[in-house]
Amino acid sequence: MGTVYLTGAGPGDIDLLTIKALRIIKKADVIVYDRLANPEILKEAKEGCEFIYVGKADSHHTLPQEEINEVLYRCALKYDVVVRLKGGDPLVFGRGGEEGIYLRKRGIKFEFIPGITSAIAVPEYAGIPVTHRGVTVSFRVVTGHESKNKDHSQIPWENYKTDDTIIFLMGLHRLDKIAAKLIEIGKPKDYPVAVISKGTTPEEKTVIGTLETIWEKAKDLPTPALIVVGEVVRLREQLNWFEREH
Ligand code: SAH
Repeated sequence: MGTVYLTGAGPGDIDLLTIKALRIIKKADVIVYDRLANPEILKEAKEGCEFIYVGKADSHHTLPQEEINEVLYRCALKYDVVVRLKGGDPLVFGRGGEEGIYLRKRGIKFEFIPGITSAIAVPEYAGIPVTHRGVTVSFRVVTGHESKNKDHSQIPWENYKTDDTIIFLMGLHRLDKIAAKLIEIGKPKDYPVAVISKGTTPEEKTVIGTLETIWEKAKDLPTPALIVVGEVVRLREQLNWFEREH
């Protein structure tokens, strides 16, 4: 019986893969991957490695989680080294925890291999530090995705009357609602917001606006994209580097 490595692939730029992840990818007998992992990484696998795509596109799950769990289980019965490759970090909205719990229940060994999360690295490539001395002392990472089956919001909006930097993942399709909600709970209409699309890749694009203007400016950006709300967004004027070079 094999071991399943629940592995973070980093945010996009292949050079942001960790050495530990690369070492296990080179040994893998099978790699189970999804859309957010840079496909270039698969070229690092040894000859004969099997590839299984379980493509989740953003919030749309093309394969239900239960089926992915089952795929991992069957792979572990068949192979020694099973790599489950996920965009960013496997435990930041990556459902790696669910996969671990399932595998443990079925008696399969697993390890987590952390990855660089898009939540921090993507703003960083856009020249936006998630904390900055004298500007903000903390940051939060929040899902912008809300279940369609629930009548009321799962996000405790009242807690967002804060100067923390707020990073919304999976939120582009609800950008208008997120911005409106933040204004409703008392944030100024001219509060700075950035939307960063395809961060850390050559197609990275950043749009800057305010809670009032951002939806109109950023709604057509391609995914994956994340939203940064906070005074730190203004620092991009001085810290933008990656998009200047590409
Ligand atoms: N585990 C991942 C996040 C999975 S949720 C991580 O740690 O990064 C998927 C969301 O991450 C996307 O909807 C988007 O908001 C964000 N995301 C992932 N890669 C991105 C990228 N290269 N650029 C911008 N946003 C990205």
